[in-house]
Amino acid sequence: MRPTYLTINTSLVRENLRKIKDSLPEWSTSTAVIKANGYGHGSVMMGRIAVEEGYESLAVAIPEEVVPLRNAGIMVPIYLLGLTRPQSFELVADTNCIPAVCESTDFEALQKVADNHDITIELAVAVDTGMHRIGINPDNAIDFIKHIDQYPNLHIDGFFSHMSNADAADQSHAHGQAQKFHAMVDAIRAFRPDEEYRFSLANSAGLLSVKDSLFTDARPGIIQYGIMPSLDVPNRLGLKPVLSLHSEVVHVQHLPAGEGIGYGSTYVTPRPMTIATIPMGYADGYPRSLSNRGSVLIHGTRCPVVGRVCMDQFMVAIPDELTVVPGDKVVLLGAQGHESITALEIAALANTIPYEIFCGFSERVPRQYI
Ligand SMILES: *Cc1c(COP(=O)(O)O)cnc(C)c1O
Repeated sequence: MRPTYLTINTSLVRENLRKIKDSLPEWSTSTAVIKANGYGHGSVMMGRIAVEEGYESLAVAIPEEVVPLRNAGIMVPIYLLGLTRPQSFELVADTNCIPAVCESTDFEALQKVADNHDITIELAVAVDTGMHRIGINPDNAIDFIKHIDQYPNLHIDGFFSHMSNADAADQSHAHGQAQKFHAMVDAIRAFRPDEEYRFSLANSAGLLSVKDSLFTDARPGIIQYGIMPSLDVPNRLGLKPVLSLHSEVVHVQHLPAGEGIGYGSTYVTPRPMTIATIPMGYADGYPRSLSNRGSVLIHGTRCPVVGRVCMDQFMVAIPDELTVVPGDKVVLLGAQGHESITALEIAALANTIPYEIFCGFSERVPRQYI
């Protein structure tokens, strides 16, 4: 195996999933959101674990993401969170997933595909309660149900909406979205009292901190991996990070003062220094914006990144008191000795959020499950 790899602690994933599920009222199911290869953690493994831990369904963004899950024998309902073009309706039918729909959906084409396959396609109606990304206006929900009634092979499974500010300290926008969704749910229940639609609003932030965003189903994503959606969401369930990033020193050099390190010589040694090379780069998902900003742990000591992060390698400065040789273990994210580097720290230095750091780890980096 390559010396640069990700470790995912599956017992901590299970622990997090249990805590999340146990925190929900008994009338709420939970859909594990494992889009983007399970936020980089591996969608097949994360999907399997979620199903084993009693999660009723899974969600991904696009139908292509359903294929490896079905191939792995995962047969629970799988929701698509993004809209699907008619060119992909065959894949929706073949993988038996539940597409998100709204006014932009070509229902004639979807009906035709369902009819050809002699199946009923279940639909998750996207509702725009204030994010303005996709979805119908909740005031039009009844008309929308009547419209879908015209298609004999299409059936509404439920309605979902997405929160745009549930992770903010000021919850007024989040409550506004919840109230709109609530009013729509009441109207739909009055109109179709016999249908047991799934109503889903809460994402991770909603589930943890916006009580009125809980309906019949919640859709936790990032918190399954022990990471809070933002600094304003308290970790009230005590969830733990599950992922760490490891590598190994491949080269050590002792340089005199005045030597430029890496492309553009953006770092010049101010004095004689020891420099070590780490075999991971931005092509693996180590952000180039960490050039001259990030740090790694070697023998439990922080070593700063010097010079620009390259595509496949980068250099770090070794503190004078430390002796480092090729083969020494390096932790880029996670704990070593008494020190640790969090996803939040890396994200802040890279001027982004942990979501983007996780999704950025490329396929070139092996995932090790422990
Ligand atoms: C990504 C996503 C989620 C999960 O979001 P988290 O913030 O990771 O919990 C839920 N619903 C939709 C529609 C999404 O796109």
